[in-house]
Amino acid sequence: MLGLMQSQPLLISSLIAFAERHHGDGEIVSRRVEGDIHRYTYRDLARRSRQLANALDGLGLERGDRVASIAWNGYRHMEMYFGVSGSGRVLHTINPRLHPEQIAWIVNHAEDRVLCFDMTFLPIAQAIHAKCPTVKQWVALCDADQLPQDSGIPGLVSYEEWIGGASDQYAWPEFDENTASSLCYTSGTTGNPKGALYSHRSTVLHAYAAALPDVMCLSARDAVLPVVPMFHVNAWGLPYSAALTGCKVVFPGPALDGKSVYELIEAEGVTFAAGVPTVWQMLLNHVGSVGGKFRTLNRTVIGGSACPPAMITAFQEGYGVTVLHAWGMTEMSPLGTLASLKNKHLDLPEAERMHWLQKQGRAIFGVDMKIVDGEGRELPWDGKTFGDLMVRGPWVLDSYYRGSSPLVKDEHGHGWFPTGDVATIDADGFMQITDRSKDVIKSGGEWISSIDIENIAMAHPAVAMAACIGMPHPKWDERPIVAVALKPGAQLTREELLAFYEGKTAKWQIPDDVVFVDAIPLGATGKMLKTRLREQLADYRLP
Ligand code: ADP
Repeated sequence: MLGLMQSQPLLISSLIAFAERHHGDGEIVSRRVEGDIHRYTYRDLARRSRQLANALDGLGLERGDRVASIAWNGYRHMEMYFGVSGSGRVLHTINPRLHPEQIAWIVNHAEDRVLCFDMTFLPIAQAIHAKCPTVKQWVALCDADQLPQDSGIPGLVSYEEWIGGASDQYAWPEFDENTASSLCYTSGTTGNPKGALYSHRSTVLHAYAAALPDVMCLSARDAVLPVVPMFHVNAWGLPYSAALTGCKVVFPGPALDGKSVYELIEAEGVTFAAGVPTVWQMLLNHVGSVGGKFRTLNRTVIGGSACPPAMITAFQEGYGVTVLHAWGMTEMSPLGTLASLKNKHLDLPEAERMHWLQKQGRAIFGVDMKIVDGEGRELPWDGKTFGDLMVRGPWVLDSYYRGSSPLVKDEHGHGWFPTGDVATIDADGFMQITDRSKDVIKSGGEWISSIDIENIAMAHPAVAMAACIGMPHPKWDERPIVAVALKPGAQLTREELLAFYEGKTAKWQIPDDVVFVDAIPLGATGKMLKTRLREQLADYRLP
């Protein structure tokens, strides 16, 4: 017997329709590529999203056709989130930090029909347009008078001119909620990038979950700053959750340095911000150097790579800002776990609470997880045993776009996605990533977590960033070394840093050596790029 409730499909267009009707005057503030601050409301966002939908119809685009963006976080990009997906096309967000060759590869793989880019990325569009025959319309996200006369890109139009003439009346179509809505490629540190193709259903469910109190706790009273790029797993779904809650949105545009981000937080009364650790390090350095405080910021979600405990303490003790450590993946839309405390942890002394806060956290409803051994047998949740982390749920990938399914079946026939991460889970359900399986250091049959080694180095006041990698060793197979970039003007010797490890980890886990580098190489999403570091240290030999 079926239930007798309305079966309305979960569609992305319903988010923008809701925001317009119930939070029409809610603010969306963007720092633009041009440098100025742009302000408008959800009502304007909805109207212009409909104009964009009409412009896409005008090009004769079919349902399911891909429309790509190479853009910073800003209002025009947000219009694409709703106008493209809402009208039944697929928004393909491209990471501009990839090599142009790789971008061209992705555009061709996705068979994008339209490509919209911020003027910052004109050189990328110029470099790739001749290699991307599927793209029939190139659009610069700017006013008509900012369009270069001699771009060399045939038929290039400005976004404002393109949508400006279109009607703002548009009935969002209804279709199956499992229809594809957006496409995001993994950054592909090994091999070609792989596409995660989200659906309207997965996106709306993820948006609900992200807003929950134990997740990001978003409400109409918040002012949210997604520093995490909209080309990096849809800014962790924040544009959708924002429309669902009607919160104020503040977009940083291209200015991601500590000073610009700090000024925006203060000027716009930001209460909640989200980003990867490297961005927050720049923010903390800046606020520390000017002796600043946060007037309104009360919490921040940090994820994408391990958040050093020293950063959690710096935010909490220095500024009264709660850090929520989160874990996820492109293949998971991306949210999987978040370290928000349970009631029983609240009365613990600060130091003991850190034990949980530094973990990647507990599963959000909608994500089931387990750790397994090499034979696929489930391992205990004792906080010590580590194994391969597997997940399943309605916003977890089933198979790659025009690729295969990586799922592993259990004895009930349920498919689990192998995350490639090695983790422990404790009795309270808090998961902790030991490492990515390819980064874990295997020393004499034991495993050493590169994240643990990095976290200790990061707690040293002279260290700006640390990356631990394994080096081949004749007796132990591998031994850890730590590459360290110092803060400007700071002094630190190899011996001082190695002594700093004493008593903080088992003796055999202390790195064999310290290598000082000018900077740790970062990948396209701001994470440490250990493959590049290994290349840089190809001639290195252990002492
Ligand atoms: P890519 O590595 O291609 O950029 P993702 O952005 O999807 O792909 O990265 C997902 C991976 O990032 C996870 O599998 C995990 O290894 C790592 N990661 C994400 N969040 C955290 C975290 N809080 N702590 C440690 N690792 C994390």
